[in-house]
Amino acid sequence: MDTIFINKKEILERYKSVQAEAHKGTQGHALIIGGSYGKIGAIVLASKSCLKSGCGLVTAYIPKCGYEILQTSFPEAMVMTDSTEKHIAAIEFDLEPDAIAIGMGMGQEKETQKAFLQFLKSNKKPLLIDADGINIISKNQQWFDHVPEKTILTPHLKELQRLLGGWESEDEKIEKAVEFSLSKKIIIVVKGAPTMIVAGHTVYKNATGNQALATAGSGDTLSGIITSFLAQGYEPVDAAIIGVYIHGLTADIASKVMGYEAFIASDIIGNLGKAFL
Ligand code: AMP
Ligand code: MG
Repeated sequence: MDTIFINKKEILERYKSVQAEAHKGTQGHALIIGGSYGKIGAIVLASKSCLKSGCGLVTAYIPKCGYEILQTSFPEAMVMTDSTEKHIAAIEFDLEPDAIAIGMGMGQEKETQKAFLQFLKSNKKPLLIDADGINIISKNQQWFDHVPEKTILTPHLKELQRLLGGWESEDEKIEKAVEFSLSKKIIIVVKGAPTMIVAGHTVYKNATGNQALATAGSGDTLSGIITSFLAQGYEPVDAAIIGVYIHGLTADIASKVMGYEAFIASDIIGNLGKAFL
C-alpha cells in the first residue's frame, strides 16, 4: 500500500483551469439523481455545488414533489422528475450526461431499489454513488457486477461500515477499503478527519478540511463537487482528489472568519469561489 499526501502542489499538478474559449457545451453536463420527500435539499446542495465547481450544465433527477423546490431555489439547474410523488420509482431520462451522481437523500423504498438496479444495468457513464446508493448496494453486493470500473463511492463512517462490515483498528479499516477497492475496481472516498481516497493499492491522504464540515448536507456538496470534475473529463481518481481538497478548503477559509459553529453546507457552496482562487 502506498500513501500519498495531497497538498496544494499535488492539486496544481492535476487541476486544469477553465479555458478562455470554453462554453457550457464543452464544460461537461452532470446528472444528479436522488432526493425524496423531506430530503430534496440534498439534491439542491449537490446540484449547486456541482455547477459552482466548473461544469457547464447540471440536470437534477428527483421525485415529483421536488420540482418547484428545485426550480425556485436553484434556477440554473434543469430538472427532470420521476412519475412518482415522494420517491424515485423509475430512473428514465433521455439525455447524454458526461457524469452521474446517485443516492443523496434518495431513501431506500423497494421501488427505489429496483429503479437503482435497472439504472446500474443500463448505465455506462462515469459514476459516483453516495448515501442511500451506498446503503442499497451494501445490502446487494452482487450488483457491483453492473458498476463501471473506477466508479467513486463516498461513504461516511456508518456507510463504510455497512459496505465493508466492521474493523478492529484504523489500519484494518484502510486495509479492508484497499481490498474492496481492488476487488470491485472502484475508488472509495473514506470520509473523515482526514478524508482518504482509496484507489487500489494507493491511498491519498487529504490535507484540507476541519470540524466545521461536521454539519448536515456537507457530504451532499462533496458529491456535487467531485461529479463536476468527472463531468469535465477528469480521471475519476483526480476528480476525487481535487474534489475532496476543494471541499475541505472551503471550510479552512470560512472557519477563519466565521468559526466552526455557524458554518453550514450552504457556506461550502458560498466559499467555493475563494477556494478555487
Ligand atoms: P456526510 O456525513 O455524508 O454529510 O459527509 C460529511 C463530510 O464532512 C465529509 O466530507 C467529511 O469528511 C467532512 N467532515 C465531517 N466532519 C469532519 C471533521 N471533523 N474534520 C474534517 N472533515 C469532516
Ligand atoms: Mg452523506
